[in-house]
Amino acid sequence: MGMTTEPADDSLDETAIIARDLIRMDTTNYGEGKSNGEVEAAEYLSAKLTAMGLEPEMFESAKGRVSVVARVEGADPAKPALVVHGHTDVVPAQPDNWSVDPFGGVIKDGLLWGRGAVDMKNMDAMIVTALQDILGSGRQPARDLVIAFFADEEAGGVYGAHYLVDRHPELFAGATEAISEVGGYSVTLGNQRSYLLQTGEKTLLWIKLVARGVAAHGSRYIQDNAVTKLAEAVAKIGRREWPIRLTETTTALLAEVARILGKDPEKVGPDELAIATGTAAGFIRATLRTTSNPTLLSAGYKHNVIPDTAEALIDIRTLPGEEDAVLAEVADLVGPDIEVVVVHRDVGLETSFDGPLIEAMIATLNEHDPGAPVLPYLLSGGTDNKALSKLGITGYGFAPLKLPAELDFPAMFHGVDERVPLDALVFGRRVLTDLLLNY
Ligand SMILES: [Zn+2]
Repeated sequence: MGMTTEPADDSLDETAIIARDLIRMDTTNYGEGKSNGEVEAAEYLSAKLTAMGLEPEMFESAKGRVSVVARVEGADPAKPALVVHGHTDVVPAQPDNWSVDPFGGVIKDGLLWGRGAVDMKNMDAMIVTALQDILGSGRQPARDLVIAFFADEEAGGVYGAHYLVDRHPELFAGATEAISEVGGYSVTLGNQRSYLLQTGEKTLLWIKLVARGVAAHGSRYIQDNAVTKLAEAVAKIGRREWPIRLTETTTALLAEVARILGKDPEKVGPDELAIATGTAAGFIRATLRTTSNPTLLSAGYKHNVIPDTAEALIDIRTLPGEEDAVLAEVADLVGPDIEVVVVHRDVGLETSFDGPLIEAMIATLNEHDPGAPVLPYLLSGGTDNKALSKLGITGYGFAPLKLPAELDFPAMFHGVDERVPLDALVFGRRVLTDLLLNY
């Protein structure tokens, strides 16, 4: 044993302890139906809700795929309910690439490290402690809340949010809006800490390319090689520069960014403006255009055997409304020899940056971080808000975190050495508490 920098539990905020506990439960979701499952996390969160006097229900969509939902009675039953949701699964982590054990829940240098620290066991914990603050002091949220911890978000929510929305829509009765992950955190623009509030999501289009050819000895003269054909198709899609198109959200965002950075949007192009934001560009650039990233290749089984098929997975995120046009162009790019299979597809979302909930989120952030502007933004990824939109529920990204300028926060999502500052968790707990009490 060397020196330890792990702080004692009694010096930690409960939010950090809960997030750490959750990180130590390996809820890896490998996709394509392969998953460690979410049972342990669901039982843990269910117990926390029960301890507050709530009556959570657990729903198992498939073996081990468990979501938890509880309803909290609000002070004004006439107000529509608000869904406050998180997911308990995480994407895989390759321990060799990390400087700490990704499932160790390590606390060092004032940060909590581990897979899910940012996406999104942090917010799961903030939801719990905000509720504890409210209910534990004998208060009530301003309106009914539907608290949901979903399984399977990282594979499109088929066994989580989509399952519950399709099979148990009554759980969300009376709800019109939702808040969840990837928004509400700060970025530093120039020297100005600013908050990005997520008011839309790109669409999700996960496709598989299948190339077929002749199976043969690796020494033969074969032109109909599935691997070669697949590689050509993958390169074309991976290299495709999709055109920039600004939506209402990105137009508003860039106008604010230009103002804060003191740049003239007439002279500085959207991409240049996004790059000028520094690390925040990691969130913004992908929202200006469709993206198509090859993510997985599979073919072959021996060095001297040409396989008859080769497959690639491509993660495409189109701007809302462009999915059919993009699919047509993909088919065009790869040519008739390659089969394009749509593995999973989900809608894009975009809502205006106004209304009482937006105002309440801005006011609460202003109260806790005076003078920091709050900007709308479109998320390049997707969340369970897509599933909830099927019930007419408008979702926002609001997992509030006040972050230091030097942390490359966009790189934390699905990244190596995912980590979150402990004081940001305390900030989030307080902001969330106030929002739920007042809205
Ligand atoms: Zn997430």
